[in-house]
Amino acid sequence: MITTIFDKAAPGKNATGFMTDKQVEGVPAGIPASLIRDAADSLEIPDIPEVEIVRHYTELSRKNYGVDNGIYPLGSCTMKYNPKINETLTNLPGFRDIHPLQGLQDNRGIQGILQLLHETSLMLAEITGMDAFTLQPAAGAHGEFTGNLIIKKYIMMKGLDKKKNKIIVPDTSHGTNPASAASCNFEVIEIKSNEQGLVDLDQLAQALAPGDVAGIMLTNPNTLGLFEEEILKVTKMVHDAGGLCYYDGANLNGLCGVCRPGDMGFDIIHVNLHKTFSTPHGGGGPGAGPVGVKAFLKELLPGPRTALKDGKYSFTLPEQAGLGSIKAFHGNIGVVIRAYCYMKALGLSGLRRGTECAVLGANYVKVMLKDTICVPYQRRCYHEFVGSDDGFPNHVNTEDIAKRMLDLGVHAPTIYFPILVHGAIMIEPTETEALARLDGLVNIIKQIHKEAEETPAIVKSAPNDMPVKRLDQVLAARNPVLTVKALKKMQEK
Ligand SMILES: *Cc1c(COP(=O)(O)O)cnc(C)c1O
Repeated sequence: MITTIFDKAAPGKNATGFMTDKQVEGVPAGIPASLIRDAADSLEIPDIPEVEIVRHYTELSRKNYGVDNGIYPLGSCTMKYNPKINETLTNLPGFRDIHPLQGLQDNRGIQGILQLLHETSLMLAEITGMDAFTLQPAAGAHGEFTGNLIIKKYIMMKGLDKKKNKIIVPDTSHGTNPASAASCNFEVIEIKSNEQGLVDLDQLAQALAPGDVAGIMLTNPNTLGLFEEEILKVTKMVHDAGGLCYYDGANLNGLCGVCRPGDMGFDIIHVNLHKTFSTPHGGGGPGAGPVGVKAFLKELLPGPRTALKDGKYSFTLPEQAGLGSIKAFHGNIGVVIRAYCYMKALGLSGLRRGTECAVLGANYVKVMLKDTICVPYQRRCYHEFVGSDDGFPNHVNTEDIAKRMLDLGVHAPTIYFPILVHGAIMIEPTETEALARLDGLVNIIKQIHKEAEETPAIVKSAPNDMPVKRLDQVLAARNPVLTVKALKKMQEK
């Protein structure tokens, strides 16, 4: 049963919680009649003392689970801890109070933020091996959309857009990849991975043969957490067929500071600042998906971007040939500031260390669970690995395991994604978890395996200790209950 603040109303009590002798009757003197609401449109506001309101919301917040409570091994999402100092720095008045239009005429007053944006672009270029970046795109998928538009524009400039209208997307790519290509009016060709979970070069050659491919979108490490070892061959084959190579760098903490997509032959890349570069995310909060390109595509980048000349920073408007703007003003600057602070604090060696810890943590958990969770692709993983529910006792499935984990005090991993693994359980411990936390996670999953053997009912009925039981997820998505009135109606049924 969900309690709302209305259930806690105490009619006749005012905000202080003291008893009043009587409700204030009628309308206080001096308020014009036109401003008085009639009963029909009056808001339903519960009579409730302030202290009970505070307790209500505090109680709600305690039911929530976040990375500040414990490990959050949600694969692909990189729910790592983000240093609080970044929040403080981003909220400095000099950053926070700038108006987006400030500096378009005269940028002497905003040299600081311009320098920050400029240096962030340079650092991202250095880290990824690209030549130029735009900071405008607001999310990973938005970066992919931008990248596909760049491919389209490039193909058009070559006069090949009638001929080259297909984008190759391996089945190990993130789900946003085919969606982004399709939104740019490309036809998507899916190619199946080989038995090692990597791009199948024969399939790739077949897909390229007709000469109608505009490019490939690749996630590396792929969604199985595996590194595409033949990556140089893959990018060369696509280039030889006249296509461009797009790199989905949302999960850069599998290789950040160790190797660079630009050196693997990629022409375009996006990175998710809100995963690798330390912006808290989830719940649809702001993100940023900067897009980087090799020099030959630079003029196509959306803007405004920044420039440095004679020691002065300025905005540069998008070039005539390019995409124009892909977002209002300069993108989600608050997210860029956090990423800047994070990169500056760690330096290249620190970023590399983060990657090493992320990869080590994922491999540690995978090995510790080798007799518990079946892992179909048995190779060394990167920052995450994908197991399956195959072989769990008594037909306990992935959903049961995930729900039981909530009872036992941790967030569930990503489940049923990627779809090429049956009953997928995708675990990404992230680099910010200490050994004891990783062991805690391992022990919880081992305990669930034991319960599945001995007392399967407790796993199949999970969650048993959460405020709500299993939701009908389809119904919840189709008919979300977002108001107290709708909730009451539902509860009356
Ligand atoms: C998260 C993710 C995306 C999408 O990023 P959003 O910011 O959620 O749009 C794309 N690709 C991969 C590999 C991801 O993990």
